[in-house]
Amino acid sequence: MQVNDSSKLTVAVIGGGVVGLSTALWLLRKGCDVTVIDPTPPLPGVSFRNAASFGNASTVAPSGIFPSASPGILRDVPSMLLRHDGPLTLYWRDLLDLAPWLTAFLSASLRSRQDGIISALSSLMRVLEDGNAPLMDEVGNVRFVKGKGSIHLYRSEAEAARAKKSNERRRAEGVEATYLTRDDIAGMEPNLAPGYVGGTIFPGCYIIDSPEEYCRGLAQNVIKRGGRFVQAKAGNITSTADGVRVEAGSETVVAQRLVVSAGAWSRAISKTVGDRLNMNTERGYHVAFNNTEGLINHPLMYLSDAFFLTPLSHQIRAAGTVDLGGLDKKPNPSRLKVLEDKARKMVPALGERQDTWMGFRPSTPDSMPFIGPSKKDPRIVYACGHGHLGLTLGGITGKLVSEVLMGEKTSVDITPFSPSRALFRLS
Ligand SMILES: Cc1cc2nc3c(=O)[nH]c(=O)nc-3n(C[C@H](O)[C@H](O)[C@H](O)COP(=O)(O)OP(=O)(O)OC[C@H]3O[C@@H](n4cnc5c(N)ncnc54)[C@H](O)[C@@H]3O)c2cc1C
Repeated sequence: MQVNDSSKLTVAVIGGGVVGLSTALWLLRKGCDVTVIDPTPPLPGVSFRNAASFGNASTVAPSGIFPSASPGILRDVPSMLLRHDGPLTLYWRDLLDLAPWLTAFLSASLRSRQDGIISALSSLMRVLEDGNAPLMDEVGNVRFVKGKGSIHLYRSEAEAARAKKSNERRRAEGVEATYLTRDDIAGMEPNLAPGYVGGTIFPGCYIIDSPEEYCRGLAQNVIKRGGRFVQAKAGNITSTADGVRVEAGSETVVAQRLVVSAGAWSRAISKTVGDRLNMNTERGYHVAFNNTEGLINHPLMYLSDAFFLTPLSHQIRAAGTVDLGGLDKKPNPSRLKVLEDKARKMVPALGERQDTWMGFRPSTPDSMPFIGPSKKDPRIVYACGHGHLGLTLGGITGKLVSEVLMGEKTSVDITPFSPSRALFRLS
């Protein structure tokens, strides 16, 4: 049994993906005694492929202020599901398990809900770098591609008109967005297939050249600052008078505070605490191609296909799509084929396939993360449910959690992200 007995606040962090590691590092920076529990953390010799943080599209995307549940989604979902190459898959036998998430997702798509969600996500985006930059400086050898921005593409004037409207809101929230004409795009991305009538460049978006290496760097810095890893799956959690006990393999970790940041697995963990987080997993895939220097110059997304094609130094990665397949099924090979075909349609000169991967986005129905204390025990704080934006929001989430646990005023109001918020609402 590990009992920490120093004057420092002792904190156990469940989950060593980008969110848990960023949180651990922020807590260490504030002088806490931190133990990270994860069966497969990004430590030397340990595969990290199980984590969503391993294989995502590698973009830090402050432009991502709109929820997936947009008005009109109900109208679009049937055609998305019926098309074999649509961006969404679900498995009918899972409908019962998905029902609470799907109904809350539809309620989040109501027009009356949109403004609140967009404002709340924007409040995080505005302070993003206060959370990310100190950690990235500390990790040191992270390679960024900053200053180039990412590009959303449109194939019809109707798509372009809708995007122009969304960009007005983005600008009002402080997100830089510049419209690109067909000629602008052809000049910036000469290897893109023809057929894109316009686009938007978001200059504030940037690439983390390898999210895996970034996480490995975060883990090394956790250790450098005196944090410890327990390489085991967290099991039973018990609240006691003097702290929270977590069964972790052959160890019992006892800490004064607990952070649950186990990505898509946080829902099951919340049940052992007695909370019931309404989250599910949107499985996503990547197909990586051998990099051909200069083939593409920015992360590129055609929104209706729901994936980014991102130029990394070691590969070009097509990453995205949504597969509501739960945590236990094998990857669906047809999703990989659709992703590869669409990527090749976008950039016909893409090289050989180098790697494929599937990961588990930890998704809430309203696209807002859970950041805040448990209803059952305020010493337990959730930091999960970052959906499509965990790489973007990991740093600021860690900072906010450290502020909550240290009893400081939080950098932004975290009420909208409360794990206890009502997710199914009709207004
Ligand atoms: C295809 C795809 C593309 C994406 N693109 C982007 C992007 O471009 N930009 C962006 O910001 N976001 C992107 N995302 C989302 C982002 O990857 C996730 O939101 C983020 O990685 C979630 O991080 P996390 O730390 O919460 O979870 P994870 O990275 O999944 O980490 C969870 C950790 O918890 C551990 N764990 C599980 N169960 C237990 C247990 N019982 N006890 C202890 N530990 C446990 C796991 O081993 C794992 O290491 C993308 C996701 C996908 C799938």
